Amino acid sequence: MTITGADAYPALKLHIDGEWLDAGQRRLFQVRHPASGQVLADLPLADTADLDRALDAADRGFRLWRTSTPEDRAKVLTGAARLLRERGETIARNATLEEGKTLAETRIELHGCADLFDFYAAEAKRLYGRVLVRPDGERSLVVKEPVGPVAAFAPWNFPIHNPGRKLGAPIAAGCSVILKPAEEAPASAMAVVQALLDAGLPAGVCQLVFGVPDEVSRHLLASPVIRKCSFTGSTSVGKHLMKLAADNALRTTMELGGHAPVIIFDDCDFDRTLDMLTLAKARNAGQVCVSPTRFYIQDSLHDRFVQALTERFGGLRLGDGMDPATQMGPMANARRPDALDALIADAKSSGAQLLTGGERIGNQGYFYRPTVLADLPAEARIMNEEPFGPVIATARFGSFDEAVEQANRLPFGLAAYAFTENGRLANRIGAALEAGMVGLNVTRMAYADAPFQGVKHSGHGSEDGPEGLAACLVTKSIHQQ
Ligand code: NAD
Repeated sequence: MTITGADAYPALKLHIDGEWLDAGQRRLFQVRHPASGQVLADLPLADTADLDRALDAADRGFRLWRTSTPEDRAKVLTGAARLLRERGETIARNATLEEGKTLAETRIELHGCADLFDFYAAEAKRLYGRVLVRPDGERSLVVKEPVGPVAAFAPWNFPIHNPGRKLGAPIAAGCSVILKPAEEAPASAMAVVQALLDAGLPAGVCQLVFGVPDEVSRHLLASPVIRKCSFTGSTSVGKHLMKLAADNALRTTMELGGHAPVIIFDDCDFDRTLDMLTLAKARNAGQVCVSPTRFYIQDSLHDRFVQALTERFGGLRLGDGMDPATQMGPMANARRPDALDALIADAKSSGAQLLTGGERIGNQGYFYRPTVLADLPAEARIMNEEPFGPVIATARFGSFDEAVEQANRLPFGLAAYAFTENGRLANRIGAALEAGMVGLNVTRMAYADAPFQGVKHSGHGSEDGPEGLAACLVTKSIHQQ
């Protein structure tokens, strides 16, 4: 498999205090193309002096940006959205090179990020307070202020949109940000930051650092400069960061792991449900926090639906994401196929039927066959641990209560789905599912204007929508005469 045009992949740098910094004497991390394993470039990793410089710049950047007008902030965000769209093909191509998903997917991601910046440009102008009238000319002002410098950590699975989410709302609120995206997909984050700088974001408002994750988070979260920690990633790392944040009394927004239940009733629109779920499951080879994972299918429908799902999902065309014919790309890194092998071996030994897939493809890159496992017992690891890969695991249910009990059984509560043509049943299941986001006859969860969040061990706080902006603000009451 050859990488088309990998020569255009950019030189990788940190961005601190208005300056792009290359490797120098810094440690390096090799960024690879997941379809081939080929090294794309070396990424410089921040050392302690870099992080201290970033903290100092973020402190100054915050003092400057908090006094900017809503119009200043809106101008930067709409300008960046326009530049992202203009540069879209190059950015999407580099995102596919470093993350592996198809070009069609990285293009959608790019537009999602631009739409989010446009949304927050408008929302920045709606940061209203209120005035309360008291006797004798006294009054109380309730005002919203930016929380302060934010330390933000974004994962590799949406290399453009995740950094956009970590930057859009804080910038609209008047915060400065130190962003540490995933080391596996740095060029996309660089492009998002470059668009903001080219649109006029002042030096110091946004720092971009890469590094050894635990080193960076410990250093930043202990600093008196930082006032908020925003993290997207696994539940275990999120809990670790919450502990670090607690020591410094930081505000937190946590978008953590999920294990989305999908309840398929026997009165669903069979073909539409099959289409939507096949597409949703193939997206980014299942490496999506809201990916449908535990399929609970009504007894009377189970076998027919699973047979159709096996044909459709098992028949997807895998390949390099750069190839327009590819329907599903590789996994993003070497850790994922190893993790899936272990979960699938456990599922088979617990009595599940392997209907398709269940193995990697070749020894080049990180390809994994789309997999369907049927009739999983509740104790199988895959029914309890997020697979984060192209695996569908099914189980049967008889009654509504049984389906709800299985769906809500885990400590996760990010996304949940149900498919039925019965409106009353849809209302009941929507109310019963313990999740931050519920899809009823739909699989799309992310919109610029709607909050995105989990409950239980899937996190707290929202991104996107007005709620994402509110999460970057503090409230102050001023009583005066
Ligand atoms: P991981 O738990 O090692 O890392 C998850 C993310 O957290 C990565 O981006 C990583 O760079 C970052 N990270 C790890 N340790 C950190 C630290 N001490 N400080 C700051 N950041 C840190 O897992 P992984 O192998 O990269 O990804 C697999 C698992 O992560 C999946 O099973 C899934 O649960 C989770 N994940 C979730 C999302 C999401 O959108 N919620 C995205 C990517 C990964």
